[in-house]
Amino acid sequence: MCGIVGYIGHREAYPIILKGLKRLEYRGYDSAGIALYDGNDIKLSKTKGKVADLEERLEKEISTKGSLGIGHTRWATHGVPNDVNSHPHFSNSGNLVIIHNGIIENYDSLKKELLKRGYIFNSDTDTEVLINLIEDVMKQDGIKLGKAVQVALNQVVGAYAIAVFDKNKPNEIVVARLGSPLAIGIGDDEFFIASDASPFIEYTKNAIYLEDEEMAIIRRDKEVNIRKIKDDSLVDPYMQELQINLEQIEKGGYDHFMLKEIFEQPRAILDTFRGRLLIDKAIIKMAGIEDNMKKFLNADRIIIVACGTSWHAGLVAEYIFEDLARIPVEVEYASEFRYRNPVIKENDVVIAISQSGETADTLAAIKLAKSKGAFVFGVCNVVGSSIARETDAGAYTHAGPEIGVASTKAFTTQITVLTLIALRLARAKGTISSSDYRHHLIELELIPEKVEKALKSDAYVKTIAAIYKDVKNFLYLGRGYNFPVALEGALKLKEISYIHAEGYPAAEMKHGPIALIDENMPIVVIATKKGHYEKVVSNIQEIKSRKGKIIGIVTEGDYSVRELADHVIEVPDTLESLSPLLTTIPLQLLSYHIAVMLEKNVDQPRNLAKSVTVE
Ligand code: GLU
Repeated sequence: MCGIVGYIGHREAYPIILKGLKRLEYRGYDSAGIALYDGNDIKLSKTKGKVADLEERLEKEISTKGSLGIGHTRWATHGVPNDVNSHPHFSNSGNLVIIHNGIIENYDSLKKELLKRGYIFNSDTDTEVLINLIEDVMKQDGIKLGKAVQVALNQVVGAYAIAVFDKNKPNEIVVARLGSPLAIGIGDDEFFIASDASPFIEYTKNAIYLEDEEMAIIRRDKEVNIRKIKDDSLVDPYMQELQINLEQIEKGGYDHFMLKEIFEQPRAILDTFRGRLLIDKAIIKMAGIEDNMKKFLNADRIIIVACGTSWHAGLVAEYIFEDLARIPVEVEYASEFRYRNPVIKENDVVIAISQSGETADTLAAIKLAKSKGAFVFGVCNVVGSSIARETDAGAYTHAGPEIGVASTKAFTTQITVLTLIALRLARAKGTISSSDYRHHLIELELIPEKVEKALKSDAYVKTIAAIYKDVKNFLYLGRGYNFPVALEGALKLKEISYIHAEGYPAAEMKHGPIALIDENMPIVVIATKKGHYEKVVSNIQEIKSRKGKIIGIVTEGDYSVRELADHVIEVPDTLESLSPLLTTIPLQLLSYHIAVMLEKNVDQPRNLAKSVTVE
C-alpha cells in the first residue's frame, strides 16, 4: 500500500513528483524512488528510506530534467525494504518502467514462466514480474504499450494501481487500477497521476478517479482514453471538481499532522453535523438514511464491519444503536468476517466504516455482504473512495484530509455520523421520547465547544506524559460507552510510542489484567459521572489497593476520583452516549506527548501505513 505519483505535460516533472511523494508518504515510507525521462533516456534513482533520503541522493545521482516521470513511496509486501526492491522497476530491456501499489498474487507462477523465457530478475518484488510480463507481450509484433498492459493485466490475479511508460514512446503514460486507488488530475495540456488528489490539488481541481478494472492511456497534450481492462470497451470519463484545498493538507503551524488533527476536532465534528443536525426544527437530515429508511426500519440487525480505529468507532455505535434505536448490532473485524462464511440475510443492514474508504479487508467484506443480498451503507472520510462507490448508500464524515497515520479526527467524526444515524432511526422507530431526542440534539450541538474545552488539558496531559514516558506497559479501563474508548486509547499509545498497552472493560480487570498491576503500572481509567460511575470507582479502589498508578479521566468538578487517583484529567459533562467524543481527547494527547518525548516519528510510525490497501 504505497503512494504513486506521475506527471506528463510541459513543466519540470521532478519537483511535482517529489512534493507529491512527500504528501503521499503517509501511505508507505520504507523506500522511495523516481524515474524521469530526460529527452533521451530514463533516469532512475531509488533508495531504502524516506522521501527526504531520496531527495538527498537523487539530486547527486541523476539529472532532474524532464517533463515526464513517475515516483513511488513503498510499503513492502514482496521483498524486504532495500534499494533494489524499491520502485520504479525497469523491464529487462530498460525500455519500460513501472510503479505499482498492491500485490500480484500469482507473481510466482508468472515469474517461473518468464524465467524459462530467459528473463532475469534483480529484485524480489512482484512488481518486476509484471513489468517483464508487459515487455514480453510487447515483443509480439505490433503490440503497443497500452494493449500490452491490458493483455498482461488479464493474466494477473491480485490488486494494483500502476503507472508505466516506455522510453520509445515518451508522450504517454499508461495507468490501471484494481483494488488500489488511482486519481488522474486534468490540467491544461498536462496530466497528473496519484494515489489520491493531494499531490496535484495545487495545479488542478479537475480529477478522474479510475474505477476497478479500468485502465487509461494518457497522452501528452491530448486526452485520457479510459478502457475496461477485461474487454477493451471504452469508458466515458467522469470528471469531478475537487473540494479540498492545499491548506487543508498542510501542517498549519503544528509540529505534527497528528497534533493538528487532534486540535481540528471541534471544527471537524461541526462540519460532520453541519446541515444534518437542524436544531430549530429538531430534525436530522441525512440523504443516505432518508432514501433508504425502509431498509433500516426493516433491519433484523445491523452488522458493522471495520478495522483498527474504525472498528472501535463501530463498538461505540453498537452501544448507541442498541440503546437508542433498539436494533441488535454485531461489530466485526472485516478481516475475520470476510473469511468465516458469516450468516448474512437479506434483512441485514451492513455498515462499513473506513477513514480512507480504501481498506482492503473492509472492501472485501462489503462485496461479500452485497453478494448475499444485504444492504450496505458506508461511513468514510475520503470522497469518491472505493468504499463510497462500492456501497449502496452512505454518509461522509467530512473530517477533512487525515494525514497522521494514527487516526484521531476520523474516529470522533465517525462516532458523530453514527450517533446521527442512531438518533434518526430511534426517532423514526419511536424508541426515543421526543424530549430525550431533543436533549440529545442539543447536547450533540454543544460537543464542538466541549471538545475545545477538553483540549485545554493539553499542557497538563504533557506533564503526565513526562512522568510515565519510560514505562513498558499501560492499562486502559472503561465501561459501557467508554470501553471502546479504552481500547482506542491503548491502540493510540501502541501505534506511535511502541509502548505495550491494553484496553479492557473495567469490570474484566479482575479476570486477568489485575495480575499485572504493581507500583510501576500506570492505569488510565475513564470514570465519567454518567455511566457506571460507582462501579468504576470501586475498580479504582481495587487498583489503588495494589499500588497501581491511576490516571483518571473524570467529569469536571469530580472529587471522589480525585481523592483516589494520582492524576485526574477533566472533561466537560455531557450525555453518557456522547461522552466518548470527549474522553477520547486526553487519551489522544497522552499518546501524542509520550511519543514526541520518546522521539518517535509520530506521523509515520514504524511498520504502519495510513490506509491499509492490502489484506
Ligand atoms: N507489492 C509491491 C512491493 O512489495 C508494492 C507494494 C506497495 O504497494 O507499496 O514492492
